[in-house]
Amino acid sequence: MNIATFTLNNGVEMPAIGLGVFQTPPQETIAAVRAALETGYRHIDTAASYGNEREVGQAIAGSGLDRSQVFVETKVWISDYGYEQTLHAFDKSAGKLGVDVIDLLILHQALPSAFDRTIAAYQALEKLLADGKVRAIGVSNFMPDHLARLLGATEVVPAVNQVEIHPYFTQPDVQAADAKHGILTQAWSPIGGITSYRGRTGAHSTFDDPTIAAIAAEHGRTPAQVMLRWGLQQGRSVIPKSTRPTRIAENLDVFDFDLTPGQLDTLDALNTGARGGPAPEDVTIEAFGRDIPDA
Ligand code: NDP
Repeated sequence: MNIATFTLNNGVEMPAIGLGVFQTPPQETIAAVRAALETGYRHIDTAASYGNEREVGQAIAGSGLDRSQVFVETKVWISDYGYEQTLHAFDKSAGKLGVDVIDLLILHQALPSAFDRTIAAYQALEKLLADGKVRAIGVSNFMPDHLARLLGATEVVPAVNQVEIHPYFTQPDVQAADAKHGILTQAWSPIGGITSYRGRTGAHSTFDDPTIAAIAAEHGRTPAQVMLRWGLQQGRSVIPKSTRPTRIAENLDVFDFDLTPGQLDTLDALNTGARGGPAPEDVTIEAFGRDIPDA
């Protein structure tokens, strides 16, 4: 299968769909990543804080694919922010992943409560980029004011800003700020997983939304496929997570239909403005800090 790609702002090509592995237990990660690579995925999104980088790397190494064929994205946790700490965080992640070069390394959170550390961490990413240890660098959960502060203090414009986006939370202001600066918006929880696993149930989950279900029925598709198509058609990178091979395949099978402009608008109109994840300001070292082990 030929997967569409995005060209990042430094010319690097990234597959438009990746497999997310947040909350994928380490013991299930090899099977999930293997299933994804066999189905045709060529992009995996993990993070130091997910505790499964080693298994992601093992699955890639055992896939028979050349290293250059798989785009590996991971994230530096806030506990490792700071210039020297973040350089070391690269060694930890690369060591666990078993790779010399990480395709896309991003800061997991803005950490506005200690933004000087965020800037130092980003300057370490710039150094890793200059040294050829990463092919692209970016950020996650950065709001427009965080982006503005970062851009004012650093040289390299992030390639990607990975933020919560699904039909119930579309963050148009963040998407506009990303676009203005040439940053690709990458949607986490692109099918609204967080609307089901974060305490909301039944009718409040995107998977059970009647409007999404109706559009899916019109195309003979599933709600997840409609939400992924919506993201792709609006120019977002999407990284759906599943540990089930049938869903992993379903989530990649989205390149042979198009939503109409009216359907895209209908999905946009489901935005509640209420995020599922923590507010970026609330993610502090005190509340969320944790040790990331060495490789
Ligand atoms: P998703 O929107 O990808 O939804 C995942 C959930 O939906 C899981 O519970 C999964 O269960 C279920 N699911 C997957 N496919 C289908 C399907 N076709 N039909 C019905 N249910 C389905 O949510 P995530 O929050 O996991 O986000 C995706 C990725 O984004 C993460 O894995 C991670 O890589 C990244 N992320 C980044 C964050 C950040 O702060 N930067 C925060 C959160 C996520 P099952 O596995 O049982 O199939």
